[in-house]
Amino acid sequence: MRPQELGAVGRGLGLLADTWTLLILQRAFLGVSRYAGWRETLNISDATLSSRLRGLVGAGLLEPRPYQENGRERRGYALTERGGDLWKLLLTTWDWEKNWVPREVPLPDIVHRDCGRATRVLVHCAACGDAVGPRDTLVERSPCAPGLETLSRQHPRRTRGTLPADPLSFLPGAMEIIGDRWGAAVLGASLTGIRAFSAFAQELSISPEVLSDRLRRFVALGVLTRRGDGEYRLTDKGRASFPIHACLVDWSHRWADGHPVDLTVRHRACGEPLRVRLCCEHCGQAFDRGSVAPVRLR
Ligand SMILES: [Zn+2]
Ligand SMILES: [Zn+2]
Repeated sequence: MRPQELGAVGRGLGLLADTWTLLILQRAFLGVSRYAGWRETLNISDATLSSRLRGLVGAGLLEPRPYQENGRERRGYALTERGGDLWKLLLTTWDWEKNWVPREVPLPDIVHRDCGRATRVLVHCAACGDAVGPRDTLVERSPCAPGLETLSRQHPRRTRGTLPADPLSFLPGAMEIIGDRWGAAVLGASLTGIRAFSAFAQELSISPEVLSDRLRRFVALGVLTRRGDGEYRLTDKGRASFPIHACLVDWSHRWADGHPVDLTVRHRACGEPLRVRLCCEHCGQAFDRGSVAPVRLR
């Protein structure tokens, strides 16, 4: 199967559901723009950093922005428009981590600049303005578009469960749930109502070993529970990851580049495909990219 036949959401998962990629992007949003800056704040190997930066440039999420230092040209990068459009994904990831993953030192609050208050990040439908949760949506799949099976052949990377650690420990919990594409796909499928092992296997064309590994990990993380009848149900913590997945699907549609629509999340109430609007829980105002006070890197 040729790569251009990959569906938009499958491609989005393939691009983004990778721990190092997400951590590099997250640092870019926090102001890191130099090769050396990522190297220092992520404690990442040169080989891994170079390959991820190459991938991000190739995918149009970062663009090279060389700079001069002591008369020498150094490697620098800036977020492109499509890279910058990932702010919703990163913001919902931060919100989930802050509220669902216990830690010794709490993550900084998400502060809405306009009203000055620490807030949760609420998902609303941009078409009708209503608040939207996972139970308010319907998921439609296009039967003809290839899914993750294509993806796994294109990117024969990690299939087992060890993820690289984030040295600043900024989003360790979130990386467990979206830091690899199979895990993200399994959790996404459970958000669409899939519960039985065989249904996951059929839906995702995933190997039984990888599926077992991810389901076991999600049960250990408290994201899924395994019931007596063998079905896997989302916990509140798992269901709370809906905004992250909704943002990933929305972004994939916005930047599909002609890839066919393989999956649509539709808002039941208004019938429109869900375009995500993120709002402040206190004043109700919709956020834009500059609405939230930035976090200082230590
Ligand atoms: Zn709506
Ligand atoms: Zn507000």
